[in-house]
Amino acid sequence: MLPDKCSVKEEGKGCVNPPEFIVSIISGSDEYMVGLTCKKHKEIVSGKIGILQKEGKMHEGNVSFSPVKAVGTDCVHGDSDDFVQIDMNRSKN
Ligand SMILES: [Zn+2]
Repeated sequence: MLPDKCSVKEEGKGCVNPPEFIVSIISGSDEYMVGLTCKKHKEIVSGKIGILQKEGKMHEGNVSFSPVKAVGTDCVHGDSDDFVQIDMNRSKN
């Protein structure tokens, strides 16, 4: 089951917007679903994943956004347990 909310947290509170995009990383022929984001947080999520990839905490590959409605959950690897929580506080330091 997909979570029904955006993966971004701001000041300890989860974003309440419904997710509009499935965030996945495409690595060769594999695609890993890593989170969900609303339109507002798309750039932030993309930036954060780039940082996590540099730190070796995320699969290598290109970040891809697919509209939630267009994607059948069967065809993408991933488990909601693997999803990243994008915590806005941590990125500011
Ligand atoms: Zn959001």
